Amino acid sequence: MTAKATALREQGVDIVTLSQGEPDFDTPEAVQKAGVAAILEGKTRYTPVAGVKPLREAIREKLSRDNGLGYDIDQITVGCGAKQVVFNALFASLDAGDEVIIPTPCWVSYPDMVRLAGGEPVLVPCPEESGFKLKPEDLEATITPRTKWLMLNSPNNPTGTVYSKADLAGLAEVLRRHPEVHVLSDDIYEKLVYDMPFATMAEAAPDLIDRVLTVNGVSKSSAMTGWRLGYGAGPKDLIKAMNTIEGQTSSHTSSISQYAAIEAIGGNQDYIAEFVSAFRKRRDLVLEQINLAEGLSCRVPDGAFYVFVSCAGVIGKVTATGKVIESDMDFAMYLLEQFGVAVVPGSGFMASPYIRISYAASEDELKRACGRILAACTALS
Ligand code: PLP
Repeated sequence: MTAKATALREQGVDIVTLSQGEPDFDTPEAVQKAGVAAILEGKTRYTPVAGVKPLREAIREKLSRDNGLGYDIDQITVGCGAKQVVFNALFASLDAGDEVIIPTPCWVSYPDMVRLAGGEPVLVPCPEESGFKLKPEDLEATITPRTKWLMLNSPNNPTGTVYSKADLAGLAEVLRRHPEVHVLSDDIYEKLVYDMPFATMAEAAPDLIDRVLTVNGVSKSSAMTGWRLGYGAGPKDLIKAMNTIEGQTSSHTSSISQYAAIEAIGGNQDYIAEFVSAFRKRRDLVLEQINLAEGLSCRVPDGAFYVFVSCAGVIGKVTATGKVIESDMDFAMYLLEQFGVAVVPGSGFMASPYIRISYAASEDELKRACGRILAACTALS
């Protein structure tokens, strides 16, 4: 969608892009300055694979302060974004045919990463009626002797769903009966929650901490997607194996990013409240408009910066040019080609028929895009 949107824009077509997976804010000034200082101070050489010690120290303190989790420094590793940390964990742990349970809708990268590491993604549909959340009974029914990981992502991309502490405790009950199953908790959207507190598995079920890899990073919370810095905290053996993989691939993420991240993670974070307040306003604006559109509906997401919109009501309808909308991909293409709005079809997140709208865009852009989406729905017959 992004490639197609870019191609249309290059032809001079006016496109509003709501397919982005990153905040539209600049990296906070203090963090920028920390990065510049690192360059000027010559902190530009190779670092330890797991990340420089002051950064891991800042992460250790963050996990204790924000999440009540106690980790040693050698239980923490830093990579080129949460993405590399997830990849390292799967690559370090999966044998051919091992199964990884992935509740869907899910982030596009999970199933492919599992396959690249030789494992088998086992997708568990979590319908909108259950708030897009994995139910304990569905987890129980999906676990087999080959299950190695359960991947959880809250707040979720693409649905914005947030698991409460009680939700996680329910899943933990099942996990206690299956000691061979590990949990990868992708907390990358932790700071972007609106109406409920954030919870993570190792905190909700402290007795399981030795089976949990907690993954997080600075991309979304500190508007640092391009700096490529994420981290993981978990059992020593796993972290050691992940470091071995990283040592033979990227070696480590940029030294400059690491020093900037010390400020992002350990410094003043007042800007997060501003991000959250701006995102909440935009979320409400988009929801109000989208729920007016014929054939579309959307529940209120509790976190992240996405709304996951059901487009079941437009499937089977016909465009002004006579084309039948047969799938969410058709609908997304229709929005892009005929109304100049780029969104992502739900099929990319293993859930149809939906579209994901990112509200990490200015209010003006969001208003313009919503107006176009409404017009697009009205034009269908
Ligand atoms: N996990 C989820 C659920 C995401 O949506 C993303 C980015 O879109 C990532 C991880 C990757 O984050 P990073 O930029 O830290 O690699």
